[in-house]
Amino acid sequence: MTDKKDKSIQEDISLEGLRRRINSVNHELLLLLNKRAEIVQQVREYKERNAIEIFIPSREKEMLDSLVEANPGPFSDDMIRHLFREIFQASLRHMQRNKEESLRVARKPGEPTDVIPVGDREVGREPIVIAGPCAVEDEAQMDRVASRLAELGVTFMRGGAFKPRTSPYSFQGLGKEGLLLLEAAGKRHGLKTVTEVVDTRTVDLVAAHADMLQVGSRNQLNYELLKAVAQAGKPVLLKRGFAATLDELLRAAEYIVAGGNENVVLCERGIRTFARETRNTLDITAIPLLREMCRLPVIVDISHAAGRRDILPSLARASLAAGADGIMVEVHPNPGLARSDAEQQLDLDQFERLLDGLTPDLLSLRTRTAARSVER
Ligand code: PEP
Ligand code: MN
Repeated sequence: MTDKKDKSIQEDISLEGLRRRINSVNHELLLLLNKRAEIVQQVREYKERNAIEIFIPSREKEMLDSLVEANPGPFSDDMIRHLFREIFQASLRHMQRNKEESLRVARKPGEPTDVIPVGDREVGREPIVIAGPCAVEDEAQMDRVASRLAELGVTFMRGGAFKPRTSPYSFQGLGKEGLLLLEAAGKRHGLKTVTEVVDTRTVDLVAAHADMLQVGSRNQLNYELLKAVAQAGKPVLLKRGFAATLDELLRAAEYIVAGGNENVVLCERGIRTFARETRNTLDITAIPLLREMCRLPVIVDISHAAGRRDILPSLARASLAAGADGIMVEVHPNPGLARSDAEQQLDLDQFERLLDGLTPDLLSLRTRTAARSVER
């Protein structure tokens, strides 16, 4: 009886009947394609468990050759290769997308931004300001900066002790001595300290004396350093490499989080472009994009982005308006005499004026939430 019925469907050569048969084949294909995707997923999981390469070109060739050999037509062998290659590619893309989604730092729909504790302070709730000199130079310099920051209500102070410099002949920082001066000034004035770590060998030393470890732009792709700061027991400020994509930045952050340290703050600090008027080009798009891609707070280092002081107030406002969780600014009591980055540091009065330009709406949670919540 059913045989007879199947036969009658197959023999129905009216346009309606043919269309019904195409629909039915489409649905069979649909189920088979998804069934294939599920098996591919299992293969991927197996390969990940056993550290086997995901894409093996010889395996793809083997499958295509066997399909062509079995091809009864009417499709040509070339067409069969083309169609199956598309199916293989789709599976690969599907696997890669699932992998993206499984990044631990990725933001899942509706998930809020992480709030990162730094001692008794937080990054990711209210916008923060990190200010201080490019490099720690001496006690008087640090004390003048720290006391003014405290007076202005700034809670985080920066200062490089280990300086990654483009030229080996430039000031390389005071090393441990600088670290101790930064720590002392921070403690005296109740400021949390942020300083760069450039080397796996000094991670523990820096972690013992600073509240937050900065991984600089030049080291964003230094995976051994990322693994080391993951173990340091202190929050990390991870700066974007000056030639790094956002994807590379997120994967660098993933190294730290996957290595056991959830307390990571990202920092956009400008990327290299053909522009000559600025040291780097502040990539303002990175702020909302990182926000969408990732649940870690994002701050902006306006000083290294610009490389000049005159436009810093505008960049500070633009960054916060775009939804940044804070800004970093280089401040020096006497920028003209600074041993590094003299041309971009603000003096203490200029810094105060920059803060005065940050109107309450820029610092309010509502503005920042609005900047973040545009539907695609
Ligand atoms: C710094 O913040 O001191 C610094 C060197 O910045 P970057 O790594 O962004 O160049
Ligand atoms: Mn600097």
